[in-house]
Amino acid sequence: MNADRWELLTVSASERAILEMVMIEKSYRSGTLNIKALGGVSLQVMPGELVAVMGPSGCGKSTLLAIAGGLLPPDRGEVLVTGKPLAKLRGSALHSLRRKAIGYVFQDYNLMRTLTAAENVALPDELSGMRRADARRQAQHALAAVGMGDYADRFPDQLSGGQQQRVALARAIAGERRLILADEPTGALDSTTATAVLDVLRHLVNQGVGCVLVTHDATVAGRADRVVTMRDGRIEASVGVAR
Ligand code: ADP
Repeated sequence: MNADRWELLTVSASERAILEMVMIEKSYRSGTLNIKALGGVSLQVMPGELVAVMGPSGCGKSTLLAIAGGLLPPDRGEVLVTGKPLAKLRGSALHSLRRKAIGYVFQDYNLMRTLTAAENVALPDELSGMRRADARRQAQHALAAVGMGDYADRFPDQLSGGQQQRVALARAIAGERRLILADEPTGALDSTTATAVLDVLRHLVNQGVGCVLVTHDATVAGRADRVVTMRDGRIEASVGVAR
């Protein structure tokens, strides 16, 4: 294939992909040690695709997700979300893309203790400039979708771990997200609730959202369209799940 044709194909793939990560490298400094977390990872997620990332602890899954969400800059490589290169976005533009287009479920939930469940869920949209009433309406809708509609006025301390996890998920899916990134989103849930939460994600994905979720659970991975296995900071395999 000649170079021009190759470039054309690459460009058209980037335009369609919700997330495109190209040859991402990332190391952490710890004292005098240099810890290589990612050693050249490329990943593409299309609209309507649910990708599960698996692999042993320490293989780089959380780092991959944080870089995909623009929370951490890579040392090398490029990340595009809805075709926009994150490295080219300046402070407020990056914040805006992160709040509007990307929903992120943190492993430790990251809920604000002083805000109710509804206020937590509405916060990213309110910070993006949405009218408070509209943000609250979307928040209520997202809480209902994860079965937490009756807990909107509770504070995180008044909720169990599993309930907090569902509030964190509601915050990630509220509004019109194009990309949902979730680090162990069902880790604290019983199997019935986990299935219900995966149904919510699947519904969003079927509507065209792209989703990457990190999981240790083979049952959760079985609900994905593709399972990516990582080892030592690299992608070892990327396998479509047969239905
Ligand atoms: P996983 O999510 O698969 O458990 P991580 O992405 O958390 O893997 O970590 C990948 C590697 O980077 C591990 O060796 C981990 O110890 C190291 N690491 C992660 N975060 C930091 C950090 N903030 N400082 C130093 N090392 C880190």
